[in-house]
Amino acid sequence: MVGAGPAGLASAAELGRRGIRALVLEQADAVGSSWRGRYDRLRLNSSRPFSNLPGARFARGTGMFPSRDDMVRYLEEYAALNGIDVRLGTRLERIDRGGRGWILRTSTGDVPADQVIVASGYEHTPYLPEWPGRERFQGRLLHSAEYRNATPFRGQDVLVVGPGCSGMEIAYELAENGAARVRLAVRTPPNIIVRSAIGPLLANAMLRLPTHRADGIMKRVREKELGDLTEYGLPQPEEGVFSRLKRLSVAPAIVDEEMIEAIKERRIEVVAGVEALDETAVELADGTRIEPDAVIAATGYRCGLEPLVGHLGVLHERGVPRAVLGEPAAPGLRFIGYVPRPAHLGHMGSEARRAAKAIVLETSGSRPAPELILAARRALSAGRA
Ligand SMILES: Cc1cc2nc3c(=O)[nH]c(=O)nc-3n(C[C@H](O)[C@H](O)[C@H](O)COP(=O)(O)OP(=O)(O)OC[C@H]3O[C@@H](n4cnc5c(N)ncnc54)[C@H](O)[C@@H]3O)c2cc1C
Repeated sequence: MVGAGPAGLASAAELGRRGIRALVLEQADAVGSSWRGRYDRLRLNSSRPFSNLPGARFARGTGMFPSRDDMVRYLEEYAALNGIDVRLGTRLERIDRGGRGWILRTSTGDVPADQVIVASGYEHTPYLPEWPGRERFQGRLLHSAEYRNATPFRGQDVLVVGPGCSGMEIAYELAENGAARVRLAVRTPPNIIVRSAIGPLLANAMLRLPTHRADGIMKRVREKELGDLTEYGLPQPEEGVFSRLKRLSVAPAIVDEEMIEAIKERRIEVVAGVEALDETAVELADGTRIEPDAVIAATGYRCGLEPLVGHLGVLHERGVPRAVLGEPAAPGLRFIGYVPRPAHLGHMGSEARRAAKAIVLETSGSRPAPELILAARRALSAGRA
């Protein structure tokens, strides 16, 4: 197993429950390291009952939307409760075919394995667009992954780029906590959903409907909850929540109503997308030039899987695994946690369970070989004839 985040820990626990002891390789010095590094005010946008990993609830007294620190504590407890064997400080550098299965080349030496699950995170490598002039900008330019809280930006003019969950939340925190001016750069208007306890339940139900129907319902829900935000720079996008999720794996922005209030009150000003930077200014897509002190790019992540498995032919051109949801990408090689969707955390359990069941069958040898299945089918149809 590679990665001691929610996906890797859930996979190890599901294997353990079936009598297979997994070794989890983790580059950091503690489990849940992605969560430890996230911004201070972060709370889950998926509600607690839909964010559990298999077999363990959040501790009593945890709020409906657990905080970053609740999540870290939960992952620590989850690893301990399930007796998961995590080898910390071990970074996977590459996976090669070898022996009876795979050889994991790591920062602390080679590790052979018959079965490998890669769970190094869909949001692995912060992505900063190659804006022309980016390196000349004299103000502060940082990715949202580096943002912790609003304190360093008091009294500053800040441009947040990208209206996803993180961009919206960071812009709101800045506006509430003493930034002199906050603008939010929007290239493609986002789909927006208001954070609610039953949000994940609704999303799961919608995912079972035909996409255009689910999109239509979510459009009407948004109109009812938020009204028309066109005059504030956030029109309903042409492409609905689920079409965009399926086509581009882009999840909607899940926000609290007060963030939208801040936009309506122009405490957060929506501006056009970023085209280029120079020493002092940012040029926007509508030709405007603005001079923020700082630019915070909430511009997403990449999976960062190429160095690990790029040579194995298991990735799409977008760098995401071809086989997901517990299916093998190659015999004995699986990827868990690479299908972003609302309430992703809750869904990781079912991915992990599916992978664990398949691994049990493969390693116990109880799954009949394909040629045996074929022979049995032939014998059956001969018997019927
Ligand atoms: C800001 C933010 C907020 C989110 N909020 C929610 C939410 O509210 N609800 C929800 O359902 N989902 C949320 N998600 C999405 C997703 O559920 C989380 O990102 C979740 O942590 C993903 O779990 P994971 O185990 O796949 O990856 P991660 O949590 O990123 O864990 C991957 C682990 O692998 C380790 N690793 C990486 N590379 C290597 C390597 N080469 N060798 C060894 N170890 C390695 C990392 O150190 C890390 O510990 C959020 C994502 C982000 C970015």
